[in-house]
Amino acid sequence: MGSTGDSGNGKAGWWCRRSSSPSSSSTASSSTPSRTFETRDPRTGDVLAHIAEADKADVDIAVKAAREAFEHGKWPRMSGYERSRVMNKLADLVEQHADELAALDGADAGKLLTLGKIIDMPAAAQMLRYYAGAADKIHGESLRVAGKYQGYTLKEPIGVVGVIIPWNFPTMMFFLKVSPALAAGCTVVVKPAEQTPLSALYYAHLAKLAGVPDGVINVVPGFGPTAGAALSSHMDVDSIAFTGSAEIGRTIMESAARSNLKNVSLELGGKSPMIVFDDADVDMAVSLSTLAVFFNKGEICVAGSRVYVQEGIYDEFVKKAVEAAKNWKVGDPFDAATNMGPQVDKVQFERVLKYIEIGKNEGATLLTGGKPTGDKGYYIEPTIFVDVKEDMTIAQEEIFGPVMSLMKFKTVEEAIEKANCTKYGLAAGIVTKNLNIANMVSRSVRAGTVWVNCYFAFDPDAPFGGFKMSGFGRDQGMVAIDKYLQVKSVITAVPDSPW
Ligand code: ADP
Repeated sequence: MGSTGDSGNGKAGWWCRRSSSPSSSSTASSSTPSRTFETRDPRTGDVLAHIAEADKADVDIAVKAAREAFEHGKWPRMSGYERSRVMNKLADLVEQHADELAALDGADAGKLLTLGKIIDMPAAAQMLRYYAGAADKIHGESLRVAGKYQGYTLKEPIGVVGVIIPWNFPTMMFFLKVSPALAAGCTVVVKPAEQTPLSALYYAHLAKLAGVPDGVINVVPGFGPTAGAALSSHMDVDSIAFTGSAEIGRTIMESAARSNLKNVSLELGGKSPMIVFDDADVDMAVSLSTLAVFFNKGEICVAGSRVYVQEGIYDEFVKKAVEAAKNWKVGDPFDAATNMGPQVDKVQFERVLKYIEIGKNEGATLLTGGKPTGDKGYYIEPTIFVDVKEDMTIAQEEIFGPVMSLMKFKTVEEAIEKANCTKYGLAAGIVTKNLNIANMVSRSVRAGTVWVNCYFAFDPDAPFGGFKMSGFGRDQGMVAIDKYLQVKSVITAVPDSPW
């Protein structure tokens, strides 16, 4: 488990028992001192590191440290300004260590090294700074209470927050949840995905260097059914912030309900539509649509995996999309010329290939890709299917791989109906020059984010989250801070009030 420190009990952060994870300076203290798990390099399938495995007993210790830091530590009692200074320092450190951190996520998750350095790490620092800026602007309201009373609300930190995150964006997921929680004055216990624990451990180390007090950020690397379940069912955790699959989101809600009814926010899967209208610039639409589904090997919850193209440009679009997919360079994520690295692990690799088989068996036509590539590792060719029907598995289920389902439509109404025809509602893309269509479709699509003539345009100030089974609660934006705050009403009698 990673911890920013000893939370006053004399034990240092102890996340690296006998392990070869990135920093091992901390001393050990655990009920299960010798258990480790392997994290593997998806380029080769080889073991990258042995990581100390947190189980229920470790989670208990981490929650205790977080509780102690919350109830008696200085973090929730500091001024917002003081917290913001520490958070800004941490942002500086993330930037200063961007090369190592991008390499860790590259080796652990198969993510592109170059993009890690220029996108993920700067975005993580920006997220921290955005919420650092909010830390001294958290305020309640004055209330117009009837009778001889006066009232106001206080916004107080919700307490100990359990953060459970997936492997596709190990860095961004960490800071998406941890930054607003820190700004609010909460303490956190983070369980990174078992596939990608490395950078989270590094962040615990950097947090200590930045001056985050002991016990405020704790990292418990381990598996979902053990460490994750221990966190979501813990009686002393006040809130869970989760990103992952709808299936596990449901499990987490059940655990929360059965334990202490803790607050839950869920950012779950997606099957996002990309809708391309006849008036679009076809080259631009093709490059946006291929990016939308092949970026990060399709391992992104907002992947534009269903592409609807209006009939007038459909044939030209298909031809150009296939060319673009063939030119998408698959290879070593540490090579600057690579567009797409390997899937994160063997499980995911086999899962994507299985979906491709299902697509073929259900009658979709495979136009390009569909096979593994390279002589080792978990690489899959960028894949395009046509003749896809709405009820096919590949049009309904989240594949989380580089697989595009291309479909034709005639009218705007048909596009809207088809776009809304899944259980998910995370994001949607629209490509058109017609402002009226863009606005009308934006209002009609049931999705938490709509991108018009762009895709993946994220900003810390733009709330992000899902409709329907893509979850509830929002990350990013000022609204996300509310997940980590409680509202308290204070009513005071004013017996001699003149009103
Ligand atoms: P994916 O399918 O993308 O791997 P998951 O929803 O399975 O997404 O995993 C997301 C996160 O949830 C990971 O950190 C994983 O370890 C954790 N997790 C998995 N199962 C459970 C569980 N039963 N309880 C709590 N967390 C879990």
